[in-house]
Amino acid sequence: MNALILDRPGRPLREAGLPRQPIGPDEIRIAVGACGVCRTDLHIRDGELDRPKLPLVLGHEIVGRVLEGGTRFAPGDRVGVPWLAWACGECRFCRSGRENLCPNAVFTGYTRDGGYAEETVADERFCFPLPDGPADHELAPLLCAGLIGYRALRFTGGAERLGLYGFGASAHLVAQLALAQGRRVFAVTRPGDGDAQSLARELGAEWAGGTDEPLPEELDAAILFAPAGELVPQALGAVTRGGRVVCAGIHMSAIPSFPYELLWGERSVQSVANLTRADGDELFALLAEAPVHAAVETFPLAEAEAALGRLRNGTVRGAAVLIIS
Ligand SMILES: [Zn+2]
Ligand SMILES: [Zn+2]
Repeated sequence: MNALILDRPGRPLREAGLPRQPIGPDEIRIAVGACGVCRTDLHIRDGELDRPKLPLVLGHEIVGRVLEGGTRFAPGDRVGVPWLAWACGECRFCRSGRENLCPNAVFTGYTRDGGYAEETVADERFCFPLPDGPADHELAPLLCAGLIGYRALRFTGGAERLGLYGFGASAHLVAQLALAQGRRVFAVTRPGDGDAQSLARELGAEWAGGTDEPLPEELDAAILFAPAGELVPQALGAVTRGGRVVCAGIHMSAIPSFPYELLWGERSVQSVANLTRADGDELFALLAEAPVHAAVETFPLAEAEAALGRLRNGTVRGAAVLIIS
């Protein structure tokens, strides 16, 4: 089967034929229909995340159809494969509903092969059944951008005025969830990023502007999707007393030092790591009531490098997705 391989971080992905791997008792073989291109893929590709499996097939926003294996799904069922590929179920984190923090966890497209390929193998216990209706490429961004965004949104509690810093794949889905909950959304983008700002306004953000522009009012919480550490003190300066700044990315540049005054007043900073299966069950149940629409730019599998380049330059409007079959 055809796949794109990362031999070593910093090198372009290369197309290769891979032998079908055998499947274990809880595993299913999946024909990949679409796979989202996440910023994390870019961090792995560029060597900003430690110790990937090598050679590696990237991709952890997989939508496909079951070909064989397992007992939970029937052949032909549509499933989603997320970032969390496996957790031990035995450590103190797993036993307390925090499998996202499991030190033994395995991650799709990072420590095991992912979805930049015609076929993939996944542990069925960590896959999500997906609804009929939307096309594969419309669902793919939900598997990470949607899930991590949802987890980050939950950590903002009941914050009414929500700032989203970095308006890409995740933020544009979170904005829709937040607006459906009656919150007010403020989108903060790179200076002059008219595309991201217009997308934010189209989706219902009441304000969209660059990091170089003053916000029209205080925020109750902020979620940082952009991997830029200097945004942490900036967002702390924008949230009101008791406000929380949630960092949703897996990687961020160093956070510059800042005066304690910015944190004073019971403001807090928190990161979001990975996801739990319960997050997914909750999100997909929510979406059955209030669907969100993913703005997607599609690319053929062979153009994954181009998609990653566009992500690096910040020129993808919404989410980038590879269409595979
Ligand atoms: Zn564990
Ligand atoms: Zn991701």
